[in-house]
Amino acid sequence: MPNQPDVLEKLVSLCKRRGFIFQSSEIYGGTGSVWDYGPLGVELKKNIKDRWWNAMVRARDDIEGLDAAILMHPRVWEASGHVATFTDPLVDCSNCKKRFRADDPKIKGTPGQPDGQCPACGMKGTLSEPRMFNLMFKTFMGPVEESASVVYLRPETAQGIYVNFLNVQQSTRQKVPFGIAQIGKAFRNEITPGNFIFRTREFEQMEMQFFVEPGTDMHWFDYWKEQRMEWHKSLGLDPARLLFHEHTKQELAHYARAAFDVQFDFGGTLDFQEIEGVHNRGDFDLARHQEYSGKKLEYFDQPNNKRFLPYVVETSVGADRTALAVLVNAYKEEKVEGEDEGRTVLALHPSLAPIKAGVFPLVKKDGMPEFAEKLTKELRKSFPVFYDESGAIGRRYRRQDEVGTPYCITVDGQTIADGTVTIRNRDTLQQERVAAEHVGEIIKARIGS
Ligand code: ATP
Repeated sequence: MPNQPDVLEKLVSLCKRRGFIFQSSEIYGGTGSVWDYGPLGVELKKNIKDRWWNAMVRARDDIEGLDAAILMHPRVWEASGHVATFTDPLVDCSNCKKRFRADDPKIKGTPGQPDGQCPACGMKGTLSEPRMFNLMFKTFMGPVEESASVVYLRPETAQGIYVNFLNVQQSTRQKVPFGIAQIGKAFRNEITPGNFIFRTREFEQMEMQFFVEPGTDMHWFDYWKEQRMEWHKSLGLDPARLLFHEHTKQELAHYARAAFDVQFDFGGTLDFQEIEGVHNRGDFDLARHQEYSGKKLEYFDQPNNKRFLPYVVETSVGADRTALAVLVNAYKEEKVEGEDEGRTVLALHPSLAPIKAGVFPLVKKDGMPEFAEKLTKELRKSFPVFYDESGAIGRRYRRQDEVGTPYCITVDGQTIADGTVTIRNRDTLQQERVAAEHVGEIIKARIGS
């Protein structure tokens, strides 16, 4: 039995209804597993990326930022091993024409054999032998479709960092150990995408490669493993839903010296799944690029007058998968005392909430809308605010609960008399009365990061 309930279906519907996430090209029937972020979703994902960038780049002096291009020289993907080995085993059903990963646990029997049973149509003996399928998207650089101009959409952002290792090191005069971080799109032609934004064919990664002296790599590996787990907790993810999964010898990539995944309990059938990988990659990447490019990528350690190829400790996390974890973690349906209708709440960490405060005039008269509009304008200088004067006040609160707005400010009759407003807390439902002129400072302090 899974530990947590399955909220995915409810989330998909909430995300569409309230403008977090839409199916891509929906009016054409949608495309296979790509999604568009709507007005609230783009804010949520941006807040996650900002939290990562601030923690990894801005708050430290040993990590530099980078934004490398998606299209790279095709030799990069030969050097990285992606052309030869970034493959999944694929099987086809000759009856229903569906495709599966050969290691799909829903397949009964052995693909390619008479007992191989298709998980979709249930036929026996219709599954093909597994064949290897490369997950990289190919496209053409320039106007002529010839093999000389084949390029790939990057399947990870990391390679842009490796090939710029010396550019960044020399231009910033960083000394090993130091890291390079970047956020960007990656593309994988996944055989079985699905589970909403969990596994898609276009997604965003937040990756950091930390370059260290060989021999110190396990120290830094342990350090980054802990740092990254703390970061996930700092987003408000329930610690009971987070764990480390250590890669066994069979799971380890051939070049990897050690690897841990941070897993999150998504509930339902997904259960615990990887959201981030922390890998000790040794000198595999720099050595391969050195070999394939013919350019030396060694680091010169001036105080000790020696040259060496640094080892790399990598942290690699999906922005979309983290957004899904954050949404699943935040989704709650609650009964409200004294009310028939319950409420749906996204108990998002205030720093991640797309809207930080709702501002409501209690009624549309007696100067309340004017006061509330003026206050909204003032608060918008500091954070995103939603102004709403329509419908019963209880409904306006519920609408903000459902999108995770941590505070709602109400302008009422007393406001006009003495300049105070109420602040309602999304989680405790408590209301407090404060001077309107202080409300911005109070909320800013509570949002934090
Ligand atoms: P998986 O085993 O789930 O396919 P992976 O081990 O191939 O993942 P990495 O290559 O280590 O993943 O990528 C690092 C991170 O990028 C993952 O932890 C995940 O958050 C994200 N990621 C990878 N593939 C996808 C995808 N198809 N859709 C969304 N996010 C992804």
